[in-house]
Amino acid sequence: MQLEIHNLSKTYSNGVQALKDVSLSIGKGMFGLLGQNGAGKSTLMRTIATLQDADTGTIHFNGIDVTKEPEKLRKTLGYLPQEFGVYPNVTAEELLLHIADMKGIIHRGERKDTVEALLQKVNLYEAKSKKLDGYSGGMKQRFGIAQALIGNPDLIIVDEPTAGLDPMERNRFYNLLSELGENAVVILSTHIVEDVSTLCTDMAIIGQGEVVLTGKPHEVEEELRGKLYEMPVSKDELPAYQEKYQVISHRFFAGKMMITVLAEDPPSNGFDTKVPSLEDAYFKILSQN
Ligand code: ADP
Repeated sequence: MQLEIHNLSKTYSNGVQALKDVSLSIGKGMFGLLGQNGAGKSTLMRTIATLQDADTGTIHFNGIDVTKEPEKLRKTLGYLPQEFGVYPNVTAEELLLHIADMKGIIHRGERKDTVEALLQKVNLYEAKSKKLDGYSGGMKQRFGIAQALIGNPDLIIVDEPTAGLDPMERNRFYNLLSELGENAVVILSTHIVEDVSTLCTDMAIIGQGEVVLTGKPHEVEEELRGKLYEMPVSKDELPAYQEKYQVISHRFFAGKMMITVLAEDPPSNGFDTKVPSLEDAYFKILSQN
């Protein structure tokens, strides 16, 4: 089970080049696609999901030439878009039955069984007869997953899924995604670094339409081991430190400004060595672009 993306490029009619020669090889498990807003993540997700075309490049999944045979891919694809759209005045069960019908599960008994099993899986069985417009954010997300899972997809694309979820809902949602990664290629597009470091076995960072890094989260962190230093400074001192050192990030911590510096050799007194996180690697890349 493998998704192969080669040399994908896309320029919108307004001249924005959203993808620049993107190549990625993605196997079974959870793959994190990390990038700032506007980096090109949604363009890439929508292109893989056959909702829009690239100008050049190819996508293959399990022997399917995605750009040439989009309808074949759609049969094995589950897509959870960033915005799931308007929630109509129907129950979860009714809408899932309708979607199952559209996805080609034509036998009534099979359709009912499929929908019941999915409602159980995403923990919405008790709420199956509630109208969708009365669902909470977390329930809507879980409904979104249920609809994406109809037909047992081998490729699941989830675009920026945690907006508006409280920590409990987010946790539950991610447990569900991790479970799916055991049997499918799951691509999680997000700007939340922590989600990638805790959930994903492999990852890529995309910046201004280009892949700027690929690897395993822990390997990406290891690359920085022994090269990071931190120190609390006052806000006024920050510009001087930025002048003297490669400050990759600064954040307020207990009333002080904590700066993280990248250096091959230990800087002057006052700095502590820092155990690298994926966020540091991300900030390093952002500071270079
Ligand atoms: P992300 O999902 O990482 O936020 P997008 O793929 O949505 O990034 O956007 C990448 C770039 O392409 C941005 O500069 C965005 O403004 C632009 N863009 C996205 N969709 C369109 C479109 N339909 N028409 C023109 N420009 C677009």
